[in-house]
Amino acid sequence: MGYIERQSRDQMLLLPASVDDYVAADNAVRFIAAFVDDLDLGELGFDRFRPKATGRPGYDPADLLKLYLYGYLNRVRSSRCLAAEAGRNLEVIWLLGGLRPDFRTIADFRRVNRPAFKPLFRAFVLLCRKLDLFGRELVAVDGTRLKAVNSRKRNFTQQKLAGWIKLADERIEEYLGRLDRADRAEIEAQGAARRAATLEAKLARVRTRRELHQAMLTELVASGESQLSLTDPDARGMAMHPKVGVGYNAQVAVDARYKLIVEQNVTNSGSDLGFLAQTAGAAREVLGVERIDAVADKGYYKGEDIAACEDIGVVPYVARPQRGSAVASGYFNRTEFRYDPEADCYVCPSGDRLDPYTRTRKDEHIAIRYTNMRACQTCSLKPQCTSGSRRTIDRWENEAVLERMAERLVARPDILDKRRETVEHPFGSIKQWMNQGAFLMRGLANVNA
Ligand code: SF4
Repeated sequence: MGYIERQSRDQMLLLPASVDDYVAADNAVRFIAAFVDDLDLGELGFDRFRPKATGRPGYDPADLLKLYLYGYLNRVRSSRCLAAEAGRNLEVIWLLGGLRPDFRTIADFRRVNRPAFKPLFRAFVLLCRKLDLFGRELVAVDGTRLKAVNSRKRNFTQQKLAGWIKLADERIEEYLGRLDRADRAEIEAQGAARRAATLEAKLARVRTRRELHQAMLTELVASGESQLSLTDPDARGMAMHPKVGVGYNAQVAVDARYKLIVEQNVTNSGSDLGFLAQTAGAAREVLGVERIDAVADKGYYKGEDIAACEDIGVVPYVARPQRGSAVASGYFNRTEFRYDPEADCYVCPSGDRLDPYTRTRKDEHIAIRYTNMRACQTCSLKPQCTSGSRRTIDRWENEAVLERMAERLVARPDILDKRRETVEHPFGSIKQWMNQGAFLMRGLANVNA
């Protein structure tokens, strides 16, 4: 038995196939074409959305946008690869009607239209909303660290530079000492002279490196920044599991119904603290609801940010992290001290009452400090409570906001699992889609686009 016979490449057909015949009715490229054709690119801020009256005609931004969206959906990320697809991929040939822009045109389109990508993403979210693809009741907020085009070797902190300068000084000292000793010994042997020449060369290299590091340290101190990155100046060293890398922190809010991203933003902050209200608030706005629940992990636990959520119609759910020196030392944690709002006091594990005695500024807020010196001095539980003369508990002025949130969490214990299921899925997909790789662009604005 033979194989299924293929058609000869020279075969003339009576009814030749059109490019459209190669693209199935449910192919995603048909959606890309319909979506982009329906957009008002001028309103979104795309450049050259109207052709120039004179000069050589350029590419329609709608065509280049279709190409980018195709690449995004098919893991074709670089402009050179997109240019290649335009010449060999039937779906792209269908999508662009046979246009073959070169890689520079494609890259320039992205560079020039950088600010328009965010409104474009919003337009897509609004379309999903129209199609009823969002539950619009709960969003999960999270951040993930993605690598930048900057190696760890080309990222410096003040501490790192100062350490290297100190090391260079020690080396210089050592080399000078060895040269002195060689001089004193008046060594005339040829081998010894060669060794001295090698030492001189090493000394010159260390001095050059020291000067470079000193100049970088001076620049870093003058800039007021915490880090200096040489390849991508906006990238920052941050914790990336399993180690520290240089990259960006991508923040997203994901709707719980179908795990679709509603809001996204890239920052170069190493921490998620302070991004809850900003991210969930923008998601609430684009989803067009008055109030929305937002759940996030402990990395978002910041009083001011949680209070800001309530002000903008976001109902936050963030579990309280166990931070502080008492927890690190294994003493009673804060949750074991119960606040009595009527008496304005805390009841400690021994059943004693801690009263307010001072107000202090803590970071950005005022904290009221509670204690009971007399009870602590005679308390049998003191070894489990504090190593000092008394235990103190700080209460943020606006702590009622956090207490309300704690009550909500008790009423909905499943919401933290829901967070994990909702937000970690898109991150997993994105990273796999990027082959666990890095952003291709440099600079915060480019990376955001
Ligand atoms: S040491 Fe002080 S705060 Fe701690 S349990 Fe005893 S009385 Fe209460």
